[in-house]
Amino acid sequence: MIIILIGSVTVYIYYLKEKKEQLSIIERGFCPRCKHNSIELVDKRSGGCSGPQILSFECMECGYHNSFAVESSGGCGSGRCG
Ligand SMILES: [Zn+2]
Repeated sequence: MIIILIGSVTVYIYYLKEKKEQLSIIERGFCPRCKHNSIELVDKRSGGCSGPQILSFECMECGYHNSFAVESSGGCGSGRCG
C-alpha cells in the first residue's frame, strides 16, 4: 500500500517536472516534441481572479498539443479584473 502511494507520488512529481520543462521550452517559442519554432498559444482561460490561467499551446508543425495551468501574474493587483 505504502509502495503504491510513494510510487504514485513519484510519478506525479515526475509528471509535474516534465510539464514544467515543457512549459519553459514553449515559453522560449519552441515545440518540446519537434523543436521547431512553430508553437502557438491557441487558447487561454482564466479560472477567475485569483485562480490559475489555463494556457493551451499547439504546434503548427507536428500537431503537438498541451495545456498548462499557470499562476496568473498580477491579475487583481493590476486592476484588470472586473
Ligand atoms: Zn512540434
